[in-house]
Amino acid sequence: MKVTHKKFNGGYRFKKFEGQPLTKVVDFLPSSKVETATEDITNNDDIMEFLKSFNLTIKKGINEALTDEDVHIQKESIGKIIISMTQVEPYDFPIDIFFEKDYANDFIQGIKILKDKLPNVQIHLVLCGDKLKKHETVISEIMNIDGVQVSTVVNKYPINKKELLIPTLLDMKYPIGYPSANIGVIMMEPYRIIQLYRYYKEKKPTTHYMVALAGLAWKDNLVLNLPLGTPIKEITNEYLNENIQVRLISNSLMTGLTLSMEDKIDKDTSLLIALPEGVKGGHGIDTGLHGTVRACISCGQCQNVCPVGLIPHLLHKHVEQGLVNESLANLRIFDCIECNLCNYGCPSKIDLVGSIKKGKEQLEEMEISHKDYQLKDIKEV
Ligand code: SF4
Ligand code: SF4
Repeated sequence: MKVTHKKFNGGYRFKKFEGQPLTKVVDFLPSSKVETATEDITNNDDIMEFLKSFNLTIKKGINEALTDEDVHIQKESIGKIIISMTQVEPYDFPIDIFFEKDYANDFIQGIKILKDKLPNVQIHLVLCGDKLKKHETVISEIMNIDGVQVSTVVNKYPINKKELLIPTLLDMKYPIGYPSANIGVIMMEPYRIIQLYRYYKEKKPTTHYMVALAGLAWKDNLVLNLPLGTPIKEITNEYLNENIQVRLISNSLMTGLTLSMEDKIDKDTSLLIALPEGVKGGHGIDTGLHGTVRACISCGQCQNVCPVGLIPHLLHKHVEQGLVNESLANLRIFDCIECNLCNYGCPSKIDLVGSIKKGKEQLEEMEISHKDYQLKDIKEV
């Protein structure tokens, strides 16, 4: 097997915490009637109809000021598709599912359909190196599809973020703050490939999604196959441990949004993390409420882990001291991809990312724009 391997500086290799989702998929039927459960995919043979359900947009004139005139990406503007199967977060969706017997064939066939419908597009399947040997047979078959490149990346967070993955993998500059479609690259989750196959095979719009339950607050760390629009409350009623207070987070422990019980499963939810609130986590992960903020001890940890080579403690000090001007932009504050790794690693619990976001906002208010820094040398499609 010939596979290219890509590395980047900084980042952090998380140990795998207890509460990882298993590869066991069960059907979940909500008791209440689920509304708006169907994605709006018209039933024709145009792959763009399927891809449009991702809300892929491209800005009209990337070098112009942003307007409301964002348009769906055109077929001829797609140069590369990345199917990202990296597993670098403290909790991840169990991608092994896609290599197992119930899904592997649909996955391979889905990639073939994608390549057939978009013959000029280069497809990149990306995963962490340890998965290569484990799934050698399926991966070899995928590598035999013309125009498909399999690459491995070092399994350090945040290589799963498009702002880092695209430059690392494709050697392209990424316009942070813009959709990747603006440089002709689109990202697809592996489950979307399976949905694509079923869309063409069964001519049915997508109504169900897989959502993995991660964290120690669940009774079982299963993967649920459920209709879009399922109320989260129905899932927690059935699967959450009783009598504990929890925090629910969507998709990523590092950058995910906190969910409320009133929210519903949408098509962007693939991981539902439930953490015991305010309890020190042992081998799992807690919500980090213990300990207090202390002064910076200049340990350099935030700088060591930053995947884009920033000096977070310096940016924080500038903002804290009100030194928000061109020099802050020249320290590359607009290159921050807000991965939250510096916050995670700081022994003094300083909210470095909060300061960085504040600094960026204040610069924009002073009309020192991220566009002036992010769009230099960008090749528009
Ligand atoms: S949040 Fe920004 S500054 Fe902090 S590690 Fe990530 S990229 Fe670097
Ligand atoms: S990790 Fe925290 S304590 Fe260490 S240099 Fe950065 S801000 Fe200071």
